[in-house]
Amino acid sequence: MGIKVTDKIKLAVKGSSDSGQIIKVGNTTIGGSQLLIIAGPCSVESREQLVNTAVAVKKAGANALRGGAFKPRTLPYSFQGLGEEGLKILAEARELTGLPVITEVMSPQDVELVEGYADVLQIGARNMQNYPLLKRVGRADKPILLKRGMSATIEEWLGSAEYIMLEGNNEIILCERGLRSFDPVTRNLLDVTAVPIIKQVSSLPVVIDPSHGTGVKSLVAPMSNAGVAAGADGILVEVHTNPELALSDGAQSLDPDEFSSLIEGLKPIAEAVGKYV
Ligand code: PEP
Ligand code: MN
Repeated sequence: MGIKVTDKIKLAVKGSSDSGQIIKVGNTTIGGSQLLIIAGPCSVESREQLVNTAVAVKKAGANALRGGAFKPRTLPYSFQGLGEEGLKILAEARELTGLPVITEVMSPQDVELVEGYADVLQIGARNMQNYPLLKRVGRADKPILLKRGMSATIEEWLGSAEYIMLEGNNEIILCERGLRSFDPVTRNLLDVTAVPIIKQVSSLPVVIDPSHGTGVKSLVAPMSNAGVAAGADGILVEVHTNPELALSDGAQSLDPDEFSSLIEGLKPIAEAVGKYV
């Protein structure tokens, strides 16, 4: 295979799926036979929106809550997130539901703040090669969800994991979220192949993000199934109580009923590959 297991990425490629690493995520884990089902809105917009979504996704079968408080938006006029207020709302939703919280951190200066509220720190696709940020989260006391850059090779992605690990943080969850492609039918081209490739060279858990990976609501369930069938340790899905009113990524967000159907459909697929929801 094309991945050269050299000493340039020796930490990230240590082991393989046979010796899969189990990472604690709040009161649950990833990397064992239980899938990590991360669900929630693209952005934290209000207390009511986030709490209602958290309660609904938990009921449907999610075991982790996502929501962005610091948002990397393509255009500066778009909603940029609620910042610390959003983090407080996330922590409140965790209090209420018990779901661990995954949220993005965009700059090294914010790591200390975000760490105080989150259970897992997300490094977004746009920041996969922000080396000062990678080094800083390498010294954080929380697991990292490292999204693959939209034009990053698998080796580059593992290179970013290596940066984090070199600073002492070995708890990295890789997240495939789709690549820039030529076809505008989908927002990105979800590289499901990345899942077994990672499994063959690394012991790090990997999740699939079919929301950003397709940008299309109707494709989120089938691609969740595909990711889990390919060996993913979990999924990350955007869910909004009213997707039409979402301040970001409404077109790819499921409502709670659609998310609940996704989970029901995923159960037999998970079972077929020795996992469960
Ligand atoms: C997100 O998870 O909302 C996000 C911004 O994702 P990505 O970094 O994959 O674009
Ligand atoms: Mn989003």
